Amino acid sequence: MGAEASSAAAGILCAQMDLPHPGAFFELCQASRQLYPSWVQQLERQSGVETHFKKTGILYLAMNLQEEQKMSRRIQWQKRRQLRVERCSALAVHRQEPAVDGKIRCGFFFPEEAQVDNVQLMRALKSVCQKSGVAIQENNQVLRILLRKSMVRGIRTEKGIFEAPVVVNCLGSWANMDGHFPIRLPVEPARGQMLAFYSSKRIFHSAIMSEQGYLVQRDDGRVIASSTIERAGFAKALTLGGIHSILLGVRRISSFLDPCFLSDMWAGFRPLTKDGLPILGPTPIDGLFVATGHFRHGILLAPITAAVLTQWILQSKPPFDLSPFLPTRFGTYS
Ligand SMILES: Cc1cc2nc3c(=O)[nH]c(=O)nc-3n(C[C@H](O)[C@H](O)[C@H](O)COP(=O)(O)OP(=O)(O)OC[C@H]3O[C@@H](n4cnc5c(N)ncnc54)[C@H](O)[C@@H]3O)c2cc1C
Repeated sequence: MGAEASSAAAGILCAQMDLPHPGAFFELCQASRQLYPSWVQQLERQSGVETHFKKTGILYLAMNLQEEQKMSRRIQWQKRRQLRVERCSALAVHRQEPAVDGKIRCGFFFPEEAQVDNVQLMRALKSVCQKSGVAIQENNQVLRILLRKSMVRGIRTEKGIFEAPVVVNCLGSWANMDGHFPIRLPVEPARGQMLAFYSSKRIFHSAIMSEQGYLVQRDDGRVIASSTIERAGFAKALTLGGIHSILLGVRRISSFLDPCFLSDMWAGFRPLTKDGLPILGPTPIDGLFVATGHFRHGILLAPITAAVLTQWILQSKPPFDLSPFLPTRFGTYS
């Protein structure tokens, strides 16, 4: 549990900075951001695991006029929505984050954005599930969805059959099960390569983002640097080109990482759908639900995904209009 993308992520909870326009996806992100503080508090209390959730804000760095103009347009509609965001001069950026010593044009600070240690979050979730009596099967591949007429009957796995009146497909980038899922789910992996450096001192306070890459420092000193977005199938590898582009991005932001040790590197698969939006909700098969396709926002969207799926399953209706995310939007049977 919590393997793959959910452990590979950077844990930046971005519900505002990288959303170019208002709409259903923006509302979903906002709703999840609002749920986060009480959700992690509850998880931490029940599990005893610290998630390092912090509202540190995101500092976006514009390196040129084009990037400044793009972000200026974005913040106009966000300000009309009463969302907090400040444009900062290059000098103000250096004051706020002295380790940002690259040549920048200006910055935009989004104080309501947050970060979490997603690996710790997965540990907390697993512990709370186990304490609540959830039986977790690990290292057991689901092979087929079992149906009776137009109803779900359960799943066939490597270790046998599990009967269930409700099945939720939350298999991330693997959601179409090599074509064996009974409805069409156009989800593919978008690889992200990541590097981690160790610094004994705190270098960055907020999550630092730019078009060339981003940096976020964990409480244990590790600075996570990312990331590539590549359509390279399920090849979970780091490449020279990927590492090179991350390092170039880092170096454009800061020279403070130069003396730091490279402590880790990994790659993961963001589940990317054909239209870039998550797939959430019921299928035409009774009892069969889908929750996947969260692409770059799956850590952010975890609590709202759980909330809407729970309400849909228990009360047969979503808490608000989720039609843009329905599994049926791609056509039905394959
Ligand atoms: C490099 C990188 C950086 C990211 N950074 C961020 C970020 O900063 N903020 C953010 O909000 N999001 C981020 N994301 C996106 C986020 O991680 C994903 O959207 C989210 O984790 C997807 O969760 P998931 O549970 O759908 O998929 P996954 O976490 O990939 O989980 C899918 C699970 O299904 C299992 N599985 C697959 N097939 C089968 C099968 N047949 N039978 C049984 N089990 C199966 C897998 O083993 C895995 O455990 C990032 C992703 C990557 C890769």
